[in-house]
Amino acid sequence: MKDEIVNKIFPYPLPSIAEIESKYPDRALPEGAKVTRIAPSPTGLMHIGNLSAALISERFAHQSDGVFFLRIEDTDQKRKVEGAVDLILKTFDDYDIQNDEGPVLNKKEIGLYGPYFQSARKEIYQAYVKDWLKKDLAYLCFCSEEEKEKNDALQVAQNMRPGYYGRWAKCRNLSQDTILQYLNEGKKFVVRFKSPGHYNNKIIIRDALRGNLKFPENDLDIVILKGDGLPTYHFAHLIDDHLMRTTHVFRGEEWLSSLPLHIQLFQAMGWNPPQYAHISHIQKMDETGNRRKISKRLDPEAKLTYYTDKGYPKVALIEYLLNLANSNFEDWRRANPDKPYTDFELSLKKLNASGALFDFLKLNSISKDVISKMTAQEVYDNALDWMKNYDPLFAQVMENNKDYMLKIFNIEREGAKKVRKDIIVWEDVKKEVAYFFDDLFSLTYKDACNLLSPLSVSDISNIINSFVETYDESDTKENWFSKIKKIASDYGFSADMKAYKANPSLFKGNISDVAKVLRVFVTGKDQSPDLYAIMQVMGKERVLKRLKI
Ligand code: GLU
Repeated sequence: MKDEIVNKIFPYPLPSIAEIESKYPDRALPEGAKVTRIAPSPTGLMHIGNLSAALISERFAHQSDGVFFLRIEDTDQKRKVEGAVDLILKTFDDYDIQNDEGPVLNKKEIGLYGPYFQSARKEIYQAYVKDWLKKDLAYLCFCSEEEKEKNDALQVAQNMRPGYYGRWAKCRNLSQDTILQYLNEGKKFVVRFKSPGHYNNKIIIRDALRGNLKFPENDLDIVILKGDGLPTYHFAHLIDDHLMRTTHVFRGEEWLSSLPLHIQLFQAMGWNPPQYAHISHIQKMDETGNRRKISKRLDPEAKLTYYTDKGYPKVALIEYLLNLANSNFEDWRRANPDKPYTDFELSLKKLNASGALFDFLKLNSISKDVISKMTAQEVYDNALDWMKNYDPLFAQVMENNKDYMLKIFNIEREGAKKVRKDIIVWEDVKKEVAYFFDDLFSLTYKDACNLLSPLSVSDISNIINSFVETYDESDTKENWFSKIKKIASDYGFSADMKAYKANPSLFKGNISDVAKVLRVFVTGKDQSPDLYAIMQVMGKERVLKRLKI
């Protein structure tokens, strides 16, 4: 294209390509180090897929001594949402995803390959667009939206692919004079890539996750620079991932169809493309038994706020996502119960390519495990943090009774043979510990008897009265238990499970029925952690109050 036209479009100075390239040298990294990035658009919502892609990218970079950076793709001004970048940074911070470059919480940005906000890179993109125009790799298109819509409709009517390509690319061959005339008239324009491709040619592209994939060659003359002077996603991706020396792009499978275009763009520049790995969407079974992509619109669990609201420990969600990415994570975790998840080596070969189903049972079981490994103090701190936001009144109760709470959380925990796993999410804490507080405990005699049915009322009161008579808070667990055994035999219950199983008809029930009477009256539940420990933590006064009937 004539210099006269190019200078009309860019009447201001732009850096030269050589200047730009020299600012972004090859990175001095060890052999095999991966440079990865996550490139979200600031649309104001964090999807579980965003976190998964960020985690995978971060892990591959850091486990190979590489670099992981964050780039904000904010060239679509219409989609920009106030506060969205802060939300991304806060999410990274919450989930401990550490980026080596790009914006970070409480600082503008770090790293030498920036700026990391695409809106601040306008000059760079324009310098390349100018170069492409000069080299005839791109051209100006003056078609209006209406003209393009008409084009698409005509193509569809003729059973053809819609789009700006081949003979439908009307502005591809405008004469230089016409272009000058349009520009002088002040006609609006965009810049389009002059695709060298033919749709009927088939090409093979290697996806690091899916292997060799066959595509038709790209022939679309896509827009590279919009009317507002900012690039489109495709062009910005080309320039940025080249300059920022990205080696691996992990992104959602929705970008697979853009792959032939992206490869073609890199080829147009003679640059090496990064290795692409298109990550499968997390799926869900719909009501009719079909798999579908988990959706922000339909599924609350697609949004990260869902997990925060329920109170899943952050590391539980991270471990669940690692488990979805590499199914051998579970075996590794079993073999290495105490190692941090960062010791697990994520494998590119084993990355799940077929789309895993979201599995609440698995997430909950991971979450239970994560919490069961915490100390009482950690459970207290985490639960309190959550309560402060979601149940401030109970948070107050926790703070006013800190020592009591720590003792409660320590039942069947630190040093226990079998650690309790009754808390899945912080939301569960209140209902699991409420019975320790008189204000939150209510049980009618009738309800208790219902829970204990078919035991007779007289058996119930005999058991309770005898227990109360002999209860001594300083008893060891053995003494305490032998007293309950005695009560069992006194009232016709078997104190010995073996004897009971051999001939159940000889007894009214067994020792566990007797303990259950005490459990129901003390806790209001027919299942609980160790009853002896509960009584010890509650203290004599409260235990006896519960048993006074
Ligand atoms: N800005 C794109 C998105 O929001 C990034 C895609 C990519 O990772 O290349 O998904």
